[in-house]
Amino acid sequence: MLLRHTPTEIKERSALSINPAKTCQPIGAMYAGLGIHGCLPHSHGSQGCCAYHRSTLTRHYKEPVSAATSSFTEGASVFGGQANLLQAIDNIFTVYEPEVIAVHTTCLSETIGDDLKQIVDKAQKEGKIPTGKNVVYASTPSYVGSHVTGFSNMVKGTVNVLAESTGKKNHKVNIIPGWVEPSDMEELKRICAMVGVPIIMLPDTSGVLNGPMTGTYEMFPKGGTTVAEIKSTGDSMGTLALGEWCSADAARTLDTKFKVPCRVLDIPIGIKATDRFVDALRIAGGTSVPETVAFERGQMLDMMADYHQYFFGKKVALVGDPDQLIAMTEFLLTLDMKPVHIVTGTPGKKFEARITELCKEKGYEPNVRAHGDMFLLHQWMKNDPVDLIMGNSYCKYIARDEDLPFVRFGFPILDRPGHQYFASVGYRGGMRLMEKMLGVLLDRKDRDSPEETFELVL
Ligand code: SF4
Repeated sequence: MLLRHTPTEIKERSALSINPAKTCQPIGAMYAGLGIHGCLPHSHGSQGCCAYHRSTLTRHYKEPVSAATSSFTEGASVFGGQANLLQAIDNIFTVYEPEVIAVHTTCLSETIGDDLKQIVDKAQKEGKIPTGKNVVYASTPSYVGSHVTGFSNMVKGTVNVLAESTGKKNHKVNIIPGWVEPSDMEELKRICAMVGVPIIMLPDTSGVLNGPMTGTYEMFPKGGTTVAEIKSTGDSMGTLALGEWCSADAARTLDTKFKVPCRVLDIPIGIKATDRFVDALRIAGGTSVPETVAFERGQMLDMMADYHQYFFGKKVALVGDPDQLIAMTEFLLTLDMKPVHIVTGTPGKKFEARITELCKEKGYEPNVRAHGDMFLLHQWMKNDPVDLIMGNSYCKYIARDEDLPFVRFGFPILDRPGHQYFASVGYRGGMRLMEKMLGVLLDRKDRDSPEETFELVL
């Protein structure tokens, strides 16, 4: 009962966050950087920041996450970190030989006012960036936005530095998948291959953060989007950006700079969002949807129908990142569930409007807050109890206190495996999500059923 003191009385707070529903920008930038082949992320700030970002990603993915740091001490903290970064770029290319260094700022270097573009240009002029190697960069002050903003900024920064147009189309479609798991990126690639559309996925952490145990440590695993592919995004037929918060900025940059038309879609979680993704893919690639995709859709539909009675009317509390929550809310509503309390830590009024609009179609108004925290979510739940909570591992404290079924979903998941290997996107991902929800809901039903209604067949 660690959260037993959470009061039911809700007071508006503007200057205090309790149990935030987000983490810091550079973590997202680091995750995006890891989705570039041969990339070493670099944290331009103090060692403590870098250690925190790495350990959070390592705990979530259960893989060693390498990253370098500018190692600010007192001098750099006062006079700026240019000298540290120039030295770091030189050392990293000499010692570790990555293809790309993805530099992001931290609160400290942003407050000092370090200008990454100017420093990277200087490194180039001074010959610290070997021929054929690259440095991409993004400004990621953690006192604005969240890890989601950091991810978006790094993808946009990468496209800004590396993408180019040769004037000759490559007949591919860019997919910017948003902050989803490596397993989700794998699944999206599988769907694209089934629909017969050649793609460039940026970033792509599959094969980087869910690779096999081979007995040999590889600092730069085989996965990740190659520099050649990133350069070629400027020649693509179009871009599908999955998620307004994580992916739209990079897609719009490609549109503006190279006239690569973009469509911003929801992350394909749930049957409706997956239908829209498959349809957009079909149109962008000029193909038709094969029977194999229709078969998987039919399987998902069958599972939805078979178990609808157990989903129907279940009230849900959700916490996570905007792009995932929008798609998840729509999915739960499709199952006739009722997401009633929804919180993200990432700012953005559009989030509240979109969630409200989705629920309105089902005839009710949810509690929804962007830039909210998990303390508020818990208070809402105390005032209006739910049947299920879904979110990252920090929800386990609320679930334990309220004696609730809990499905882990989002970032970070620190206490269960699976998210790295089993997708939540697409029709198969939707089936996995239903399996997880049914697992906890039916376990609870079994636990609480009196003997006369304790059924073998459900
Ligand atoms: S100081 Fe800023 S960048 Fe560093 S760990 Fe804290 S929030 Fe993140």
